[in-house]
Amino acid sequence: MRAVSLFKAWDMRLVDLPSPLIERNDQVRLKVAAVGLCGSDLHYYKDGHIGAGQTIDQPFTPGHEFSGHLIDDLPELGLHAGALVAVDPNISCGECEWCRRDEENLCPKPDFIGAPPHNGALCEEIVVETRRIVALPGGIDAVQAAMLEPLGVCIHSLDLARPQWWETVAVVGCGPIGLGIIQLLHNAGIRHIHAIEPVDYRRAKASGEGAEAVHDAVAGLIEATDGRGADLVIEATNSPDGFEAATRTARIGGRAVIVGIPDGNSYSFEASPARRKQLTITFSRRMNHVYPRAIELVARRGLKPETLVTHKIALAGVPNAFDMLSNHEDGAIKVIVEPNR
Ligand SMILES: [Zn+2]
Ligand SMILES: [Zn+2]
Repeated sequence: MRAVSLFKAWDMRLVDLPSPLIERNDQVRLKVAAVGLCGSDLHYYKDGHIGAGQTIDQPFTPGHEFSGHLIDDLPELGLHAGALVAVDPNISCGECEWCRRDEENLCPKPDFIGAPPHNGALCEEIVVETRRIVALPGGIDAVQAAMLEPLGVCIHSLDLARPQWWETVAVVGCGPIGLGIIQLLHNAGIRHIHAIEPVDYRRAKASGEGAEAVHDAVAGLIEATDGRGADLVIEATNSPDGFEAATRTARIGGRAVIVGIPDGNSYSFEASPARRKQLTITFSRRMNHVYPRAIELVARRGLKPETLVTHKIALAGVPNAFDMLSNHEDGAIKVIVEPNR
């Protein structure tokens, strides 16, 4: 089968690999239908690793936001060959203190598809554990199913942020996660949504998804709120300056939720804005059990995560797409790969 392989930072190639085989009876084979390219994949592409995580030292296939069609029947879930399913890329150990407290997203020993050494879904066929399979109701298509994972990241961040309808909420960074958060806030009836984003076309998209005001820098929001700042700030950038931007955007006594992963694995920020405002700052890590809500929102509540999709491409276009995303070219927001088209 054809697959995408990252050999080292900036060296991504299309390769031929043997089709994967089932090795244990808790596994199932999928024909990959749709894969979203994510900011975290971009970190592997640009840096060869994420933060202090494992560096790629042998060819690695990224891709963790995906859906597929079952190649074999899956009677445990009442599913037949050909059924469209989503896949939860994250499995936690099930035994540690955090897993037992139902905070499985905080498990220090997760097994994550699409994080080295576990190859991901940018390939034609993949074998996954049965317990990762998420059955879908009718009416969800392959692209929406692939978008359930990033949507889950957005839902988890709002579970932590607990926005209130009367609040001014600022979203710093309008990539797919920031825009997905704006979409959810808007759907939740929050009216005073401000987006801060330096790239023009992403600001335009933020308006389209329901932001009341858009700014190219923090100063714009401070001016728009007469110097007060936002009650709640959600940071979703890939910038080492994102944390500082969040602390400057928040009002006195406000709160900030940090979702983004910074290039270079460090933040530098001036202490006094955060300290004097007595900010409450929460970091958001992946997601917990949010797939059922993500599915409900898409299947029955009219949420349209696919509006963030700007490109649908074949496997051969993936190396180019990573460059396009790195350089903010061609209006790219969410790129979906269809390996079997
Ligand atoms: Zn992702
Ligand atoms: Zn655990």
